[in-house]
Amino acid sequence: MKIGFFGGVREIGGNIIFLESNGVAIVFDFGRKFAISEVYFNHTIKGREEIGYQDYVDLGELPPFRGFYKEEIPSSKTLPFEIGGIFFSHAHLDHIGRICDLNPNLNKYMTSGTHAVLNYFVDKNIVPCKPQGIQLMDGSSVKIGDFTITPYFIDHDVPGAVAYLIETPKGLVVYTGDIYFKGPKSNLSYEFVKYVKSLKPFILISEGTRIGWNGIVSNTEEELKNQIKEVANVFDGLLIGNVYEIHLSRIKTFFDASKELGKKFVIHEDYARTLTEFAKINEQFALEILNSENTFVFPGAYKTPLFLKEKTIDIETLRKEEQNTMLLLNFAHIQELIDIKPISNSAYMMSGGEPLSSVDPDNTRILENWLKLFNLPLFRIHSPGHASETEILWMAREINPDILLPIHTQFPERFKVVHNNVLILEKGILNEF
Ligand SMILES: [Zn+2]
Ligand SMILES: [Zn+2]
Repeated sequence: MKIGFFGGVREIGGNIIFLESNGVAIVFDFGRKFAISEVYFNHTIKGREEIGYQDYVDLGELPPFRGFYKEEIPSSKTLPFEIGGIFFSHAHLDHIGRICDLNPNLNKYMTSGTHAVLNYFVDKNIVPCKPQGIQLMDGSSVKIGDFTITPYFIDHDVPGAVAYLIETPKGLVVYTGDIYFKGPKSNLSYEFVKYVKSLKPFILISEGTRIGWNGIVSNTEEELKNQIKEVANVFDGLLIGNVYEIHLSRIKTFFDASKELGKKFVIHEDYARTLTEFAKINEQFALEILNSENTFVFPGAYKTPLFLKEKTIDIETLRKEEQNTMLLLNFAHIQELIDIKPISNSAYMMSGGEPLSSVDPDNTRILENWLKLFNLPLFRIHSPGHASETEILWMAREINPDILLPIHTQFPERFKVVHNNVLILEKGILNEF
């Protein structure tokens, strides 16, 4: 059996994991790189259109898999294996964002939660195609070649996130995906560790996002709710929250805070869209928010309402009610502030929405300019959706696989503190196991 990493090596995000046995391969995740890890190509310098993906493959920016892309690359440049399917761990863009580059005939496995977020991305043209070949798997196993692949639900800051358990001819391989231990579904992550430990896996492929971040503190959603109330205690104008539209548990935290503060919960239409998708798959938080009489939808000052029309609040009403309102407004619609004209003593709470300050300095500057223009103080009310360094290292020690392969981390060596067989794979190299 061979394992290779074609992305996510000494970088956060962009995981591409390749497993092969007897000529048949499976792949896990295929997302975008964050702008700060782009090396040869970006939104200005792209591969030459005439030769499709070949430039990216030539420079090691995309993997050389035959039958993988929507346009084939010369077979002389590809690995001599058949791709049996691709499995997505969750719907963050660094894991799923390149799905449109894939061969439409390739089977693409994902949970209903991941599919719900994908639908939103397609709707908003964030993912620029309607992907074909999607196979939903919410717990059932799939057999491909020598592999049997089973998803296992874990906690992360987007619904539908899973780890994968892969039975191989050499033993069990486990891929954590992105994992969190402080969210409302943290019990899933703890059960995952306990269960996988009992299976004595051969290989654990573990994420390590927060390794090297120099901090172990994560806030629970309850603690974040109290921080929102602390802001509200002093700033009695309009409260604006910027949450990532797909971060359901954080949206619920703002919803709970607004209820406890006796304020209306007004969400931009983008949130109404994701909540509608999540409600379709019976995510309880989404149903609770949408069914509440306290929830209203703001489509934008000049836009005709499209979603949840019965809950629409117009700009005039919103302006009259600013003092009694908690508004979720994502960065993409910050221009609405021109018409909202926040009253004095308003405040802006950055809570996991875009732009991410560490990886998107250009947009962070633009955001700060808007906040200055409207005299809005900025509060960061946040907790990352990834396990802290100590939690990750604890997990690795608990599971104690024969071999540990770090991915999605800048500091893979750090795992050696808790494990004496850490292999650090180089990008694009196939390793025989
Ligand atoms: Zn990630
Ligand atoms: Zn993620």
